[in-house]
Amino acid sequence: MQSKSLTRRTALAATGAVVAATGAATAATGMSQKPLRAQNKSDVIVIGAGLSGLNAALLLEEQGYTVQVIEGRDRIGGRLLSLRDIPGTPEAGGNGIGSGYGRMIDTVERLKIPMLNSAGRAQMTPFELYLDGERISAEQWPTHPKNILPEAFKNFSPRLVPLVLLRQTNPLASFEDWYDPKSKPHDISVYDVFKKNGFTDEQIDLTYNLNVAYGTSAHDISALMMWFNDGWVASMEGGPPTTLSAIGGNMTIPETMAKALIGEVHLNRTVVGVSDTSGGAEVVCGDGTVYRADHVVCSLPLPVMRHVRFDPFLPSVQAKAISMVPYFPMTQVHLVATEPFWEDDEWSPDMWTDTVAGHVIGNRHNVENSDVTSLTAWARGFTAHKLDRASPEEGMAWVVSELERIRPSAKGKLEARYIKSWMRDPFAGGDYAVWEPGQVTEFLHATGQAHGHIHFCGEHTALSNRGMEGAMESGERAAFEIMGL
Ligand SMILES: Cc1cc2nc3c(=O)[nH]c(=O)nc-3n(C[C@H](O)[C@H](O)[C@H](O)COP(=O)(O)OP(=O)(O)OC[C@H]3O[C@@H](n4cnc5c(N)ncnc54)[C@H](O)[C@@H]3O)c2cc1C
Repeated sequence: MQSKSLTRRTALAATGAVVAATGAATAATGMSQKPLRAQNKSDVIVIGAGLSGLNAALLLEEQGYTVQVIEGRDRIGGRLLSLRDIPGTPEAGGNGIGSGYGRMIDTVERLKIPMLNSAGRAQMTPFELYLDGERISAEQWPTHPKNILPEAFKNFSPRLVPLVLLRQTNPLASFEDWYDPKSKPHDISVYDVFKKNGFTDEQIDLTYNLNVAYGTSAHDISALMMWFNDGWVASMEGGPPTTLSAIGGNMTIPETMAKALIGEVHLNRTVVGVSDTSGGAEVVCGDGTVYRADHVVCSLPLPVMRHVRFDPFLPSVQAKAISMVPYFPMTQVHLVATEPFWEDDEWSPDMWTDTVAGHVIGNRHNVENSDVTSLTAWARGFTAHKLDRASPEEGMAWVVSELERIRPSAKGKLEARYIKSWMRDPFAGGDYAVWEPGQVTEFLHATGQAHGHIHFCGEHTALSNRGMEGAMESGERAAFEIMGL
């Protein structure tokens, strides 16, 4: 084992983002030997084999720490879930990797994971709306009687209106200002922003609440979080269009990261307790297995942490954050078209609907061409809750029958292959953290606060990035904490 005391050289290296990539590369190429059996004791236990936990594990191994990873599911990847049995391998979890995802892009390059850039394919056909069973084309929309949007927004699809408004009103000089306490006055609801800009409740219902962008309605989502998101997205605009995904599925990324580890990844071990002890930390699993280490990195999503006993109890702000920060309700139905029905009626395969099918997107995952490989019905917010009340079989049948009703050419040509409710997933409890008004200011810093020898990561603790890149950022921060940086 390498020395874990940091030399000046390694300390300097570890302070740069470069280290994330270097760590992964070294692990990938030079450290393929796995121990013959699991160790009871290691320097660090990482809970969760998603992107954040695996990034922390790789960085710590790079610095000579012994690491074990404990994962509750029977697979690697957490909220990356690639559906390999469906044509084009659609993603049921994290899908698009943008140009500003430095850590992700470094990692896939170092691990030599082939990627597809599908930027622009999602916008290949103009948007189409299906309201009260009526199809409304992009051309018809600006003057359509159902278009009740304010004059300045009439040309936009309802889906884009909140994004345009938030871009126009963004008060943050830098998107990272969102976690500065001085931004507290901006930690208001998206509903308040709409109201301040003259929108009526009816208009807000159409543009935000029907197929929500985040949260369940404009009332329960922090505009401060949305302004951070807007600034972060804007920081990636201007360069070559980039929407990367791994050929063979994004799950390949964490799977390859896990293979690059020296230490064991223990699957099917559900963590139920984490204790800070005088000399380190202890992790207890539901099957009674106990693991001990000098440090623990906990990457569990907040809804999962509600069922984990921390000993001693976490400080009250952190405990409150765990119990109160909501996760985005999201249920997807993955569909395959037995015939390209959109060629019959010559309408777009993409549909923004007011049904339980929510927002339907044609996936274009072919390497050679941009043909539609499958369709995903994205049900968000209350629409996801509605679908979640049905059994998986009923939910899939419901989505197909609604689509056949509003789109006669699809009749008999749609097969529902898979339904994924992230709310009902006991290892996630929702899509990702969506901060309510006031919660950014009250809870954001607390969620990533170390508790003795217990360190926290996961996308919900990220400060400067969101999604997959946020997960990677948070794993890096937790690893640096342990290294004493
Ligand atoms: C539908 C969907 C679409 C998305 N789209 C995008 C996108 O386009 N771009 C983007 O950047 N991001 C996207 N994301 C977000 C991105 O996928 C996540 O932010 C990221 O994968 C989270 O990584 P993580 O390590 O923080 O958490 P996770 O991946 O959730 O890792 C936590 C791990 O802990 C494990 N675990 C849970 N409970 C226990 C327990 N009790 N004991 C042991 N292990 C446990 C889990 O199984 C999991 O492996 C999307 C997510 C979803 C769900």
